[in-house]
Amino acid sequence: MNGNLKLAIQKSGRLTEKSLQLLRACGLDIENYSDRLIVSARNYELDLLFLRDDDIPEYVQDGVADIGIVGEDVVIEKEADVEIIKRLAYGRCRLMLAGPEDRNIPELDQLNGKRVATSYPKILSNFFRNNKIDAKIIQISGSVEIAPSLGIADYICDIVSTGNTLKLNKLKKFITVFDSEAVLIGSKNLTSDTEKFLKLKNLILRIESALNAKNSKYLMMNIPKSALQKIREILPALKSPTILPLADESMLAVHAVIPSEMFWEIQEKLHLAGASGLLLIPIENMIL
Ligand code: ATP
Ligand code: ZN
Repeated sequence: MNGNLKLAIQKSGRLTEKSLQLLRACGLDIENYSDRLIVSARNYELDLLFLRDDDIPEYVQDGVADIGIVGEDVVIEKEADVEIIKRLAYGRCRLMLAGPEDRNIPELDQLNGKRVATSYPKILSNFFRNNKIDAKIIQISGSVEIAPSLGIADYICDIVSTGNTLKLNKLKKFITVFDSEAVLIGSKNLTSDTEKFLKLKNLILRIESALNAKNSKYLMMNIPKSALQKIREILPALKSPTILPLADESMLAVHAVIPSEMFWEIQEKLHLAGASGLLLIPIENMIL
């Protein structure tokens, strides 16, 4: 056993590529993993364990892995005794109730006494308990959406993304049961092991920096000096912008970090206020 931090991620599935991308954005050099169960980062004291996502919460709980990346839906469904350290803003999906499209959308209390098929029985029974609904949960491990047409359930509760699968099966969604995203989870025993804890703190800092960078862009532009006040009002108040003199004394250069999604919203206003030569640049890392 080496003293490396052990991080479990999904072996092959929806979270695999994005998780590897995030780790690489953290500066970890990870070789293409092919079929191996464990891969060590070349430049960091970290071992990656590739596992089925359903097993990750339990392995982290039991300390087989120190930390893991997995969907929050799986963490809650497995009722694992682990800590959610960080939400990772990818793998977003929605667990929803759906029913036959040719029937009226039911009020929640009309689900009383009905059969609902799902592969998330724990999350669904929590939801029913919180809403005081007494419905029968039929547990199915895959292809939940065919349950109504097979006559084994009246409704389903399943992950919905585009809704195409529902449409194909003549179903329509009606209520969100749970919103999920990928999360970094940690073993509750980790605090006692100080050296590993320090390694984890460093990794979390890198993850935060990579997530901040992904959501932000560096905006540069030239403006007439007289427009400075107006431009400052348009820019989001994240941080004070950098203002630099230009060779043409009537002009200034303004640099600012902005939320990526805001660019198209503000670029026209900036133009109207007199800004020119807008440059939008990706940020590799950002430590706040
Ligand atoms: P495994 O073989 O590892 O058990 P799986 O088939 O159970 O894989 P995936 O379908 O790869 O799991 O989904 C992994 C996680 O990705 C889910 O737990 C959920 O959090 C998230 N997810 C599921 N469906 C979607 C979707 N349509 N869009 C985005 N994220 C999703
Ligand atoms: Zn799975």
